[in-house]
Amino acid sequence: NEQLVLAKRPAGLPQDDVFRFEETDIKTPANDELLIESVYISVDPYMRGRMNDAKSYAKPFSLNEPLNGHIVGRVTESNADGFKENDVVTGRLPWKKFNTVSAKDVKKVASTDVPFHLYLSTLGMPGHTAYGGLLNIGKPEPGETVVVSAASGAVGSVVGQIAKIKGAKVIGIAGGTKKVNYLTEELGFDAGVDYKADDFKEKLAEAVPDGVDVYYENVGGTVSDEVFKHLNRFARIPVCGTISSYNSKEDNGPRVQGQLVKSQALMQGFLVAQFENQAEEISQQLAAWVEEGKIKSEVTIAEGFDKLPEAFRNLFTGNNFGKQIVKVSNS
Ligand code: NDP
Repeated sequence: NEQLVLAKRPAGLPQDDVFRFEETDIKTPANDELLIESVYISVDPYMRGRMNDAKSYAKPFSLNEPLNGHIVGRVTESNADGFKENDVVTGRLPWKKFNTVSAKDVKKVASTDVPFHLYLSTLGMPGHTAYGGLLNIGKPEPGETVVVSAASGAVGSVVGQIAKIKGAKVIGIAGGTKKVNYLTEELGFDAGVDYKADDFKEKLAEAVPDGVDVYYENVGGTVSDEVFKHLNRFARIPVCGTISSYNSKEDNGPRVQGQLVKSQALMQGFLVAQFENQAEEISQQLAAWVEEGKIKSEVTIAEGFDKLPEAFRNLFTGNNFGKQIVKVSNS
C-alpha cells in the first residue's frame, strides 16, 4: 500500500525532494470502519500553505506523515452499517492508495450519474467556495460587472458561470490564449483577458468600460492591482485566495487600501467552511445547474499515484486546465 509523505518543508515551489513515497500496511477494518481504495485524489492550492510550519486556518501537515485532502474512493470492504462494497464515497483522507477509516469520516456521493471527479471540483469544495463567496459576499446584481481571476480554474470557472446565471456581465482573467478563449467560447463569459499578455492593462480596461462591481479575488499581486483601479463605488471583493504569493517568501505588503477608500468598496476574506450551514442547499443547486448544462467544467487528470507531486506543481505553473486531479486507480 503506497503513501506519499511530506519529507521536508518547501522553500518556493515544492520540488520532488519535498515528497517521499513509502510502503505501508493495509489495516483490516474494525467495527464501523471501511476499507477504501482511492480513485481520484485532489490537489488544491491551499495545501501549499499547509506545507509550511506556520500558524494558519488549516493545521500544517506533519513531517514524515502522509499529506491529506479530498479524495473520491470506492469501498472495497465494509464493516459499517449503510455502506457496502463498491459504494463511491468522498472525504478528507490521507494520500494513500488504501485507507481504513471510520464510516463517519466519509459520505456517499449524491449521484453516480455524473463523473465522480466532479465531487472534487464543481460539486465539491471548489464549487462550494465559488457559490458561497460569490453569492454571500459578492452579491452580483443583474447588469453589474463581475471580474474573476484564475477564471478557468476549479473555483473561478464556477464563479463566472454562477454570475452569468445571476444576470451579471462577467470578465475572466486567465493565463494564455487557450484558457482565455475557453472562457468566452465554452463557458459563456462576456470577455476573457490574458494577464500574461503585454497588453493586459489595456485589454482589461477595454473589458470593463462601466467599472467593476464585484471582484472575486483568487490571485492577488500585480494582476489584482490592475483590477482594483477599476473598482466602482461600493464594489464588493470576496477575497478567496492569493495564489500568486503562495510560493513567495517576500511580504507583498499592503497595496489596495487607497483604492478601497476611493471606491468605498467592501473587501472580505472568507473560508469555504463558513458556508457549512448552507452546504445542502449549495450541493443541490450546483447539481441542478450541472444537470441542466448551465455549469460546465474542465478537468486535467494525471494518471498514477507517482504523479501527485507534479500535478500539485501544475497549480502554480498553470499547467493545469480546470480542476487538477490525480487518478490513482482504475477501479
Ligand atoms: P485552479 O484550478 O484555479 O488552479 C490554480 C490556477 O491559478 C492555475 O491554473 C493558474 O491559472 C493560476 N495561477 C497560478 N499562479 C498564478 C500567479 N502567479 N498569478 C496568477 N494566476 C496564477 O485552483 P482553485 O480553483 O482550486 O483555487 C483558486 C483560488 O481559490 C486559490 O487562490 C485558492 O487558494 C483559493 N481557494 C480558497 C478557498 C477558501 O476557502 N477561501 C477554498 C478553495 C480555493 P493561469 O494559467 O490562468 O495562471
